[in-house]
Amino acid sequence: MENKILSRSCYFSDYLKAPQVIFDLKNKDKVEAIEELLDVLAKQKLIDNKKLILTRIIDRENLVSTAIGYGVALPHARVDSGGEIAVAVGRSEKGIDFDAHDGQKVHLIILVVWNPTLPGLFNHLFAGLARFLIRAENRGRIQAAKDKAELYDILSEIEFKFVHEEKIVSRARLLKKLQEIELKKKKGTKEQQKELHKQAAMIREELDRDLVSRFDRLMERYGFAVADAVDGVCQSCNINISTQMYSAMEDSNDIYVCENCGKYLVSARKKKK
Ligand SMILES: [Zn+2]
Repeated sequence: MENKILSRSCYFSDYLKAPQVIFDLKNKDKVEAIEELLDVLAKQKLIDNKKLILTRIIDRENLVSTAIGYGVALPHARVDSGGEIAVAVGRSEKGIDFDAHDGQKVHLIILVVWNPTLPGLFNHLFAGLARFLIRAENRGRIQAAKDKAELYDILSEIEFKFVHEEKIVSRARLLKKLQEIELKKKKGTKEQQKELHKQAAMIREELDRDLVSRFDRLMERYGFAVADAVDGVCQSCNINISTQMYSAMEDSNDIYVCENCGKYLVSARKKKK
């Protein structure tokens, strides 16, 4: 089943049906807005364990915010709900505080619950959404949508191509969090280690296997694998990153590797205004 899914390209409308879209979310609070979207999925009979899924989503959200910038968040959980994947989209006129790294409120929530037997699916979905949303004109169209039908039409056309991209692997901030956890684990008590191991496992299952094994090799060899990029300089080797790469990093959630020392690069967290 997995191969069939991963070998084709598909559209968001294969997973997202019109009743799974909320044009203006009632709730202004993060948890309540997520619950509002889960209610939609429950009503559509796409999930049957709302409480468990809500807990998983909030646990994941507390680890690292799933706000990807530009006023968009992708809360998600990996839970077997019977089907392949369940998605719901909510738009918020006023915006919702998601603790985004760019400090912006979130105006579009794309909630994803996917089946643990399909590990690759979420990464492809995420990459496809990011590729679409990174373009200002696409975000502008979403923002300008006058009603639910128009919003649904725009979202429907998002295409997912299931290809492997060496340099463009998402999720730099997750890797950094994984590094933090792995370093803490070394010093923690048995009880703390158990909890940290759980958190690390949650991140690991979300990332591509190649990315994680490279991370582990770097950790083993150097004691760390992820370096901050500050003002165009890799903080691991103190060498300038090419201007082109640095500016690409600034407005992307992709992962970049320092061409000099090979560490994964994360652009330093922007300060909240
Ligand atoms: Zn470096």
